[in-house]
Amino acid sequence: MADIYIRGGFVVTMDSRRRVIRNGAVAIEDGAIRAVGKREELDKSYRYYSDVVIDARHDIIMPGLINTHVHLAQGLLRACADYLSLIPWLRDRIWPLQGNYKPDEALASAQLVVTEMIKSGTTTFLETGMVGRYGPDKIIEFVHASGMRAAIARHVMDLAGYAEYENMLHEGLIETGEESMRDTIRLYNKYHGKDNRIWIWFGPRTPGAVSIELYKEISERAKELKTGITMHLAEVREDREYIAKSFGKKPIEFANSVGLTGPNVVLVHVVWIDPGEIEILAKTKTNVSYNPSSNSKLASGIAPVAEMVKTGVNVALGTDGAPSNNSYDLVREMKLAALMQVLKTMDPASIRAEDVLEMTTVNGAKALMIDHLVGSIEVGKRADIIVVNAWKPHLKPYNNPVSHLVYSAMGSDVKHSIIDGKLVMYNRRILTFDEDEILEKAEKAAYNLYSRIGICKEPDSTWSFI
Ligand SMILES: [Zn+2]
Repeated sequence: MADIYIRGGFVVTMDSRRRVIRNGAVAIEDGAIRAVGKREELDKSYRYYSDVVIDARHDIIMPGLINTHVHLAQGLLRACADYLSLIPWLRDRIWPLQGNYKPDEALASAQLVVTEMIKSGTTTFLETGMVGRYGPDKIIEFVHASGMRAAIARHVMDLAGYAEYENMLHEGLIETGEESMRDTIRLYNKYHGKDNRIWIWFGPRTPGAVSIELYKEISERAKELKTGITMHLAEVREDREYIAKSFGKKPIEFANSVGLTGPNVVLVHVVWIDPGEIEILAKTKTNVSYNPSSNSKLASGIAPVAEMVKTGVNVALGTDGAPSNNSYDLVREMKLAALMQVLKTMDPASIRAEDVLEMTTVNGAKALMIDHLVGSIEVGKRADIIVVNAWKPHLKPYNNPVSHLVYSAMGSDVKHSIIDGKLVMYNRRILTFDEDEILEKAEKAAYNLYSRIGICKEPDSTWSFI
């Protein structure tokens, strides 16, 4: 007897032996995985004795995807900042828009992003930085109600500068050290650990916006509270130059000197680092979130991920936000994640599909310190499972689901999504909220925001829109 019984096709377990089971099946009970094995065997106990039976014989069953770098507040900014590199991208578009959000607009943005992630197979994500003006409580409550699992980092800062561009950060986003720390602790006390689905992290801003004292305090508090820290680092060449000029250090050396390395830290991008810094990442067990689309679109560079993987760094994958990726589809991100490394190293086997699938499942779970709960399909783990419809021309022949998932699949191939043993999407219909209502709200909120700020009112295009 199970609550949900999925009769597969392939089951890509991501267990320690990395078993891929042909004609496999999974039984779920009380939110946890009760049995994984051959369909023929499991059918005897579950086929006629389960509340819900899902026929997935032409499909691929795999762990839900884990997106380790998400900006919930950037959903409304899609196509608002094309063709720019990071500094003007932030200064002229992102910060003026985000710095003027009203809480209902920030909520509409977060709802849109959550919808897009569920529909493309993400079951867990790491939000990089909530601020007070977004109204974090309502956003966190929506994420919880949506059924998703998430670590939500709250921005912490005490200086207004970014890199050499002093006071560049839009005033609407500036907070003091005291208020940003206080609100992080408040959110932690209110939500951390809720139903084992929501965790509150520290999200310090990049060097230049946070004093060394505050970085050290964040490191101490995170250890004390047994929670995580995530920060953008060494995204563009200017970051490296700024850190060298201001602190006389390389980016990872700097992070290490202020306590921002370790198994509870996810450093994001990490493009501009050298082999010595990769050694520090490996030695300190610091996690890296690799965001290939964002790094390409902003022309930031290619992170030395193949080298990191070889050196033993835990690398996970992230999409970043709508204005730098223009998508939160982690399935699509996998292909670029592999191809960029192949191109950088000029070695077609420098990163394999297996490596990339690990990034979006087990490595993501480890980065979020929840690998005891999710990341693989194993008996006893929480049931975060997606079913990918493989009855599609681009997924035939049905021979190697690992290769197909990384190189051929799209987020829209995800048919069902189960999180914590609950069906959150069935046959591409979200069951936990009204998707149409959210799309409508997002459209209105974006229109209001663009009109009020005067940015993005017209498409950024050389063509005429009549
Ligand atoms: Zn980011």
